[in-house]
Amino acid sequence: MSAGLPGDGTTSPPRPLRASRTTPDETGRITAMDTQDRLRQLPKVDELLRHPDVEALLAAHPRSLVLDALREAIDVSRARLLSSETALYDEGELLAEARSRAALKALRSLRPVINATGIVVHTNLGRSILSERATAAVAEVASSYSTLEYDVVTGERGSRHVHCESLLCKLTGAEAAMAVNNNAAAVMMAIAALARGKEAVVSRGQLVEIGGSFRIPDIMRESGATMVEVGTTNKTHLRDYENAITERTGVLLKVHSSNFRVVGFTNEVGLEELVPLGRKHGVPVFEDQGSGVLVDLRPWGLPYEPTVGESITAGADLVSCSGDKLLGGPQAGILVGRADIIRKLKQHPMARALRLDKMTLAALEVTLRTYLDPETTLAEIPTLRMITAPAEEVATRAHALAARLAGTCGEAAVVDTASDISRAGGGALPLADIPTTVVRVSAHAIGPVELERRLRLGSPAIVARIKEDRLLFDVRTLLEADEEPVIARIAAILAGAE
Ligand SMILES: *Cc1c(COP(=O)(O)O)cnc(C)c1O
Repeated sequence: MSAGLPGDGTTSPPRPLRASRTTPDETGRITAMDTQDRLRQLPKVDELLRHPDVEALLAAHPRSLVLDALREAIDVSRARLLSSETALYDEGELLAEARSRAALKALRSLRPVINATGIVVHTNLGRSILSERATAAVAEVASSYSTLEYDVVTGERGSRHVHCESLLCKLTGAEAAMAVNNNAAAVMMAIAALARGKEAVVSRGQLVEIGGSFRIPDIMRESGATMVEVGTTNKTHLRDYENAITERTGVLLKVHSSNFRVVGFTNEVGLEELVPLGRKHGVPVFEDQGSGVLVDLRPWGLPYEPTVGESITAGADLVSCSGDKLLGGPQAGILVGRADIIRKLKQHPMARALRLDKMTLAALEVTLRTYLDPETTLAEIPTLRMITAPAEEVATRAHALAARLAGTCGEAAVVDTASDISRAGGGALPLADIPTTVVRVSAHAIGPVELERRLRLGSPAIVARIKEDRLLFDVRTLLEADEEPVIARIAAILAGAE
């Protein structure tokens, strides 16, 4: 790209220009007009600011944003004039460019997306969405002063830990609990508190990587613990742990293999064996449970996933999990377990650095409260509602959406439905194939790749997936309110309106 063209952010002078031979003037006569003359037609920003269209932009957007959009639009026009000897300055084109650039700049960077992928806990799309009650609590606490660290009974300073601790204890059976920024932080702090300068024993089959930057060996190193690997990739036995225990052992760590499974000739040591071993040697057993599942989802046809409460019942001294995976709340790392260990964690210097803010605490408290009433838990928490939605219900919704879409698109596209698979996602229930029905769209004038791209770039952004040359929309992850904009945006794109 040469200097001074749009997007490169420079304002260098145009490169030396050749004289153009001929260009038509307004009357269609061919006259000689050199490139300098044509570039002189470009307006100055100050002139554009007086144009009624630009005044309208200024009424809608901050001045600095409009100025940037105008400068970029002028750059685009200049590049066009330089690109061809017959190009003429077009004011309408420049203003349209400025309008669309201003509109893009006005969009928030972090903004809602319609998730039509069928991946419920989609890490890139923000994992769990909050329930209505949790969302309302966030807004309330954000826009007013709160009891964050204030005890209304004594009128004195309180602790931010109280808001979720008793709920977590009630829901898991643990003695004590706390919550930090995320599960990676929870694991790091727990290992630092239990095994800094000591050894942490872990099975080779559990040295997992979750989402790139969370790798157990790295976390160990950063926590100041020496990792002692035991067993093999596929098999670890109780005697492997027992042989590794010395007076330097600080913790026996068990990590849930959230996003993969070792199948075939395998053996993992369960808590029922690990806990007595830890007790015998006076070494705490810490389980990174991962998903934060609090209720058994087998009645909804999902595979068995041990709940946090089951780990506590099995005697784990400490259990950690995420707040925004299958628990269905905000991003958080939850730690439940023995009172003396949690006390130590609350006093750990890292606890201050990893603490939760009031908005997250509000969302977490309300999400946890929803679990107190099992009748409403599944219906109210979007992640659980989506994962457990029966296949027939999803099929009915898909057929209804397909019919409306077909009606709106008419001849422009072939719309039908097909059986497919949804995923829990987010490193949870990796082997669960959740049967679903997808709406498939195959447009005549526009390919699936281009349709997918435009849906993703427009507003609201819609993320769908391509399979066998068709664009697929999984209604399992669509909210009721998403259906209207999905239909409207597909129709607008097919009609050439966006
Ligand atoms: C997801 C996961 C983590 C990381 O949790 P974040 O909340 O994303 O920090 C750690 N351990 C396990 C087993 C997980 O599944």
